[in-house]
Order: sequence, then structure tokens, then C-alpha cells
Amino acid sequence: MLVVTTIAAVRARRHELWRSGHKVAFVPTMGALHEGHLTLVRRGRELADEVWVSVFVNPTQFGPGEDFARYPRTLERDVELLREVGAALVFAPSEKEMYPRPAEVSLTFPNLSRHLCGAHRPGHFAGVALVVSKLFNIVQPEVALFGAKDFQQAVLVRRLVEDLNFPVRLEVVPTVREADGLAMSSRNAYLDASQRQQALALWRALSAAQAAVLKGERSAKALEGLMLSVLGQTPGVRPQYVAAVDPETLEPVEEVQGTVLLALAAYVGSTRLIDNLLVEVPQ
Ligand code: AMP
Repeated sequence: MLVVTTIAAVRARRHELWRSGHKVAFVPTMGALHEGHLTLVRRGRELADEVWVSVFVNPTQFGPGEDFARYPRTLERDVELLREVGAALVFAPSEKEMYPRPAEVSLTFPNLSRHLCGAHRPGHFAGVALVVSKLFNIVQPEVALFGAKDFQQAVLVRRLVEDLNFPVRLEVVPTVREADGLAMSSRNAYLDASQRQQALALWRALSAAQAAVLKGERSAKALEGLMLSVLGQTPGVRPQYVAAVDPETLEPVEEVQGTVLLALAAYVGSTRLIDNLLVEVPQ
């Protein structure tokens, strides 16, 4: 496995692969890797000859007061895990390598980012779109893998690829969870033992709303009320939003039908966690 820090080194290796006709699957990450990330890498191995992973805590997607400075950075361990899971290349650039000066270009999503996390993290998705575009241009992968855990991000990247004609195929991988349902996240590392228990309220809220849909509930307002009430039963959990939205447009729905995305964000202590669940509404 190659571990490189420069764009030039990635490009040099990419040229070698073009000569041999080998295809690259790409998994962009911010590191502090867990089983969710590794599942994306394993899936990538089924889709291409080599899987390349970037590890870069992207400053432009963090807002003021967010956790950029304290975001876990565990590169040595990440490299070991990636070696075990069969990645072929790790790109771990410095901030200077990625942003030798502040980018002038800005990519905005006036409709898609009005909802869910976008409504609460101004500039976040512009930062995501910028770094993903740069990484796509650096790596030039045939396939790129994203997790459904960050559902809004996956929808937005799909639109970015379509609107800007990036020659890449996207694959979205279902959320990997702990045995008790908690969605795996690098930010779970912030939780102490009691917060780790409190964090289960997110999954309980989504599960309760799913069960309600399966029992016939069709009102988005009722489902949102239910998710809020389940979150409210756990002291220490402070909801930021709960929503039932169209999984393609991310627009709120009134009556659920077809497939609905249940999504929420909540603070557990000072840690902001997100989760979501796609639910097929019975006919
Ligand atoms: P991050 O390092 O948090 O930026 O995540 C890198 C990629 O891994 C993103 O596409 C995430 O959606 C994906 N990912 C993170 N957590 C999970 C999870 N629990 N299950 C599946 N994919 C995940």
C-alpha cells in the first residue's frame, strides 16, 4: 500500500494505472476510521482493481465554533486499518497541499442545502463540494463511494457530479451500525460511557417512527412529533432537527408515500450526532 501526501504523487500513480488499464475506486474520508469507512473500502474492492482512500480533515466544511480543531486525527492507526482491508493507496495531504491559498471558487446548492443539516450548518456543503471536486480532479476515480449515514451529502454529491459532468460513478453504501443500533461515526469518540448510552436515543427515535409508518401512520407532522418525543425521553439529548423528507429532493413532505427519508440531528452533551433511515411506505 502506498501512503502519499502530495497531489503530484497521486497523479504519477494514476498515470501508471491508466497505462495498465486498472480502475480506481475512491473513498474520501476525514480519517479516525471505523467499520463504516472500512465497509466502503471493501465494497470498493468489488468495483475496481484498486481502492484509494483520502484522509483529510477538510477545514472548509467546518463552521466557526464547530469541532475542526478537536476532530480526532489518528493517521497511523488509519493507515494500518487500510492496509489490513486491502486499500492500495492512501492520500493524506496537508492543509497547505490542498489549499495553498483560500479557494475563490464556491459551489452552492440553494435548494438541496436549504434542508436538514444544510439549514443548520451554513457553508458546510459548499466546503464538502469544494473538497470533493478537488479530490475527484486529483484522483480521477472511475467509482467513488459514499455512506448513506451522510444522506444529504450523498444526494448533493450526486447532483454535483451530474451538474459538473464529473466522469465518475457513485455508489452509496448503507449505514453501518453498532450492535445496539448506534450509527458508527468518528464523532462517537467524543462520547463518554453515559453519553454513549444517551446517543442510542437517535436510533430509538428513527425506529419508533419507522414502526409507526409500518403500522399506518402517514402524517409527517405526527412522525416528527414522535421522533421529538422519543428524543425528549433521554435527558442529555438536545434535538436540533427531526424531519420526514423526500429522499431525492430532500423537501419536507406532508403525507408520507413511496419512500420517505426520516432524518435527525441532536446534541449529546456538546457532540452533534446525525442519523437517518429510509423507509418504504407500505401501499
Ligand atoms: P467521514 O470520514 O465522516 O467524512 O466519512 C467518510 C465517508 O464514510 C462518508 O461517505 C460517510 O458517509 C461514510 N461513513 C461514515 N460513517 C459511516 C457509517 N456508519 N456507515 C456507512 N458509511 C459511513
